[in-house]
Amino acid sequence: MPTRDDLRDLTPDEFRAAAHRVADLAADYFATLEKYRVVPDIEPGAIRGRLPARPPDGPEPLDDVLADYLALIEPNVTHWQHPGFMAYFPASASGPGILGEWLAATLNSVVMMWRNAPAPTELEETVVGWLREMFGLPAAFDGMLTDTASMSTLTALVAARHALPGLAAREEGLAGRDGLGRLRLYCSEEAHSSTEKAAIVTGIGRAGVRRIPTDDALRLRPDLLAQAIRDDRATGWWPFCIVGMAGTTSSTSVDPLPEIARIARDEGLWLHVDAAYAGSAAVCPELRPLLAGWEEADSIVINPHKWLFTPMDASLLLFRRPEVFRDAFSLVPEYLRVKEAAGVHNFHEYGIPLGRRFRALKLWMIVRTFGVAGLAARVREGCRLAALFAGWVDGDPDWQRLAPAPFSTVCFRHRPAAFAGREDEPTVAAQLDAHNEALMARVNADGSVFLSSSRLKGRYTIRLALGNLRHTEEHVAHAWALLREAGRAA
Ligand SMILES: *Cc1c(COP(=O)(O)O)cnc(C)c1O
Repeated sequence: MPTRDDLRDLTPDEFRAAAHRVADLAADYFATLEKYRVVPDIEPGAIRGRLPARPPDGPEPLDDVLADYLALIEPNVTHWQHPGFMAYFPASASGPGILGEWLAATLNSVVMMWRNAPAPTELEETVVGWLREMFGLPAAFDGMLTDTASMSTLTALVAARHALPGLAAREEGLAGRDGLGRLRLYCSEEAHSSTEKAAIVTGIGRAGVRRIPTDDALRLRPDLLAQAIRDDRATGWWPFCIVGMAGTTSSTSVDPLPEIARIARDEGLWLHVDAAYAGSAAVCPELRPLLAGWEEADSIVINPHKWLFTPMDASLLLFRRPEVFRDAFSLVPEYLRVKEAAGVHNFHEYGIPLGRRFRALKLWMIVRTFGVAGLAARVREGCRLAALFAGWVDGDPDWQRLAPAPFSTVCFRHRPAAFAGREDEPTVAAQLDAHNEALMARVNADGSVFLSSSRLKGRYTIRLALGNLRHTEEHVAHAWALLREAGRAA
């Protein structure tokens, strides 16, 4: 029989000592992070081979576990916090955000409803209101926190589906019923895959997603959208939703949201705006015009875990009609029935998960520690550095920008001046693609920076994504020097 002592957790004193050591590990990490390559030089399987295949039967000293963390785990992550990390999108974990995660894990509140998480519920309501106001959005928006933009968009599409009269998918399901049209959702060719994934999950199917071509600046063309809706109605489809992009993943382009909102209104369609990355830019009042029209949406997703210095995970889903979400999702099992919750959200009734993490705490700590003006200044600095880099590209005849750079991301490639004007000749186009792919691989092999790529209108593009807290002008200049060197060597 185990004794009571065998069954206990760390004592408060043991926990305190270990927590101090972990605090040191984390602080040391930030102090010395640049000793690492951004992307570890390892092959798939390299770590698994150094981990025991079987779990330990008895207890191991925490010291040994932390030593293995330092030897095996920390050096072998891709360092998203490294100032040379300029791939994909910004994702900074700030000090106050990490501390908020830690305290949230300590309380381990399960934020289903007010009764089992009163302060977390009310803090979430408060922080959602703060963020909405910080982004300059009207008070008509209610909202909640989810884990990711993928979840926020899925949740919004279920609500959009629910709002369509005559469908009753919640009660009746979608398959095998007479008299139903097929559901159609519209988004641009540049829209994020999470929209398509939500269509897969909600029974709309990939065929139900109609991707509308974009203009030269990679924005959805409203004329083609309106035409597509007309054609679909004429052939028996049931249009129900438009997903507008406020900051596409590849190029950060923003769809013409005012025109799209007008079409959504005229056609009676739900408008969901995907501002997962660029929405945080709205904390800077001078950048809000770039997102104009998003305030007319039925729902909006913004990821503080991208560009608002919040550790994974935190996605903000805003919506105008909370009752539609509640009607779409609410199932209150007998064991959760309560009387008293008037005037507060029982958040589990508005979305998919029942148990929810206490995400509001870290956001509250971040906003209070940096202040709204401090957050805006940090976002602005990411944009300043991106504009600086874009200027260097524009000023060099051997380099070419492939998209406008309104936020903190620049799309560009090496296009030696000798090829100017011949980019679309098939052999030149193929050469430039292969050349830039090799050039980026050479730059990344240096280990001090990490860039990623995409394709825009078929052209391979290198992307430089700024907006992390630790990026400085020196780091951006270093990336540019490496790129130019690789361009000359090619
Ligand atoms: C990153 C991103 C997503 C997906 O975000 P997750 O939180 O990882 O699900 C969706 N849309 C856009 C525009 C994005 O940039």
